[in-house]
Amino acid sequence: MGLHSLLGSPFGLALLVFAGWLLHSLLWPYKNCSRCGGSKKLNAVGGGGYRSCPKCGGSGTATRVGRRMLGLLGSRRRYHR
Ligand SMILES: [Zn+2]
Repeated sequence: MGLHSLLGSPFGLALLVFAGWLLHSLLWPYKNCSRCGGSKKLNAVGGGGYRSCPKCGGSGTATRVGRRMLGLLGSRRRYHR
């Protein structure tokens, strides 16, 4: 089984997409927080107040799952929890 036939199979395609997704996560490790949309704060429902977003801790960013996976595979000193 050559590389070409592997890439032509559904499995190869999935592998290719996965590899691309991992690469994308490596190059763009962060995205806007899904909770606050990158605004770093959550608006109060009824009034004008707000508080810092608990999901991202007020950073406004969320680490992509792929980046976390790469972190687990790579350096454990920096990403240990
Ligand atoms: Zn947030």
